Amino acid sequence: MAIRKVARMGHPVLRKIAAPVPEKAIKTPEFQGFVHDLIDTMFEYDGRGLAAPQIHESLRVVVMLWKSEKSSSKPTILCLINPVIKPLTSETSHYWEGCLSLPGLRGLVERPNRIAVTALGLKGEKIEMEVDGFDATVVQHECDHLDGVLYIDRIKDLKNFSFNQEYDRHLSNPDDPDDEGDNE
Ligand code: ZN
Repeated sequence: MAIRKVARMGHPVLRKIAAPVPEKAIKTPEFQGFVHDLIDTMFEYDGRGLAAPQIHESLRVVVMLWKSEKSSSKPTILCLINPVIKPLTSETSHYWEGCLSLPGLRGLVERPNRIAVTALGLKGEKIEMEVDGFDATVVQHECDHLDGVLYIDRIKDLKNFSFNQEYDRHLSNPDDPDDEGDNE
């Protein structure tokens, strides 16, 4: 296990379409070790989620801390391999998103607030889930990385793009539950 370097905006790996993981590769020690590097790196950089291209591996794998808003239990780690997402509603949510590949910045992004996710898990098992709220935004943010999309591509009004310090001083609303300080 190792902590990897995080690619920053401008590195071409963040703009590539990532390759699917062959199902037979999932249980290999090489792939399992890679996912543990991804998880270790997410924790080291204090991220809420991390996609494989962010550590310079153009593969369709994301990991995230899973702390469902409905439960007070401790966060678990969710690993999605070859994820496919489908919006389940035309309703959207707005969240201020951050990203470890754009350190020190955040921006307001609108996304569908309920999605269906299908993927493979770390043991090769099929995952099917429905996700809503901020968790849905995290999943969509991470899956965007697999298609070479960064959250800044989805900011509708660039007035809502800010350095974290200025955001804290001028834009954040402590009473607003949509104000999250996570990096993905
Ligand atoms: Zn990100």
